[in-house]
Amino acid sequence: MSRVKVLKLDTGGRRRGGNYDRGRALVAGGAGFLGSHLCERLLSDGHEVIALDNFHTGKGYNLAGIARDGSFTCIRHDIIDALPTDLAVDEIYNLACPASPPHYQADPIHTFKTSVLGSINLLELARRHNAKIFQASTSEVYGDPLVHPQPEGYFGNVNTHGPRSCYDEGKRSAETLFFDYSRTYGIDVRVARIFNTYGPRMQPDDGRVVSNFIVQALRGDDITVYGSGSQTRSFCFVDDLIEGFVRLMNAAVPPQHPVNLGNPVEFTIMELAESVIDYTNSRSRIVHRPLPVDDPRQRKPDISFARQHLGWEPKVALSEGLAHPTSYFDALLGGRRFVAPRAVQASSAREATA
Ligand code: NAD
Ligand code: UDP
Repeated sequence: MSRVKVLKLDTGGRRRGGNYDRGRALVAGGAGFLGSHLCERLLSDGHEVIALDNFHTGKGYNLAGIARDGSFTCIRHDIIDALPTDLAVDEIYNLACPASPPHYQADPIHTFKTSVLGSINLLELARRHNAKIFQASTSEVYGDPLVHPQPEGYFGNVNTHGPRSCYDEGKRSAETLFFDYSRTYGIDVRVARIFNTYGPRMQPDDGRVVSNFIVQALRGDDITVYGSGSQTRSFCFVDDLIEGFVRLMNAAVPPQHPVNLGNPVEFTIMELAESVIDYTNSRSRIVHRPLPVDDPRQRKPDISFARQHLGWEPKVALSEGLAHPTSYFDALLGGRRFVAPRAVQASSAREATA
């Protein structure tokens, strides 16, 4: 309890509709990129929302739009430490964990503890209060996949002792814990395997590819493609992903396995670099840098389960979605760098036929 610092608790700001008819939701990692979007969505759906965050990669300003909402509270807390037992909640979303390779590798032991000890603390809280609990897992559990695209039934190809292992194996362990708590204590768990997602509120120095390329393009700096750029990723816009979270959490029957959430349209990293340069009308050059150790060569979700059982699929193509983080980063960098939005012809053509 003593480590919990309440940054804001019922300041008497705007309270929508009086009653919280959708219950109280706890969002661990609520000040992060995805967490802040999720908090907004849950508030607008009628929940009371408590964000819990150690502000390692999250920022207070991500919550600026909801900070004065009377239904919103933010608590500074590291989930590896014991949680207050009287934190009564109906739903828990566990998004707490640095997601960018440079950040999760900076303190790998803390990253692993976040996934394992943090999950146990949140699962115990769910058990105590009979709350539903959601885990933000990751496509990294597939490692460098030998099956393509990746269905949920694929067990993955993961290095247990490399620089990415603290994240990959931490998330795999968390999945184990979630389903063991479900089998042992009957807890209602929902586990999403998230594929690369982008949007406003990524940090400009986050280190992930979409934010790096847009910021580099806006600044006119070199675009750093790691390796040849032939490795692939599939990029999902944040609003689509959050819709998937809510549908998974609200599904009448909890899936008894993790569920892939991501956009199945696949790009090489070189194609992404060219799309960003084209979209921002940038004078940046593409330069190549060494490929990080264990960098997955390909990644594309099989979302058949989410389509069939959640009625979910992404709606926003990369060619449209890029506009939002580009405007966001342009404003953060002081504006006026983003010259002329142009259609990303190559990617649009491919998405139209996907
Ligand atoms: P992010 O780094 O912006 O957000 C993570 C948040 O968790 C931050 O606010 C950070 O301060 C907080 N946090 C980290 N460790 C914590 C701890 N020990 N205690 C409390 N708070 C802690 O990353 P994101 O992209 O918003 O990712 C959110 C979640 O989704 C993560 O769990 C990540 O693994 C998962 N995920 C994201 C993606 C993606 O493409 N964005 C893909 C796969 C999985
Ligand atoms: N990447 C890149 N340049 C960058 C950042 C990343 O070429 O400036 C590559 C990285 O090597 C990987 C892909 O882009 O192949 C996606 O990287 P990111 O860190 O965004 O996500 P992850 O590897 O976790 O999927």
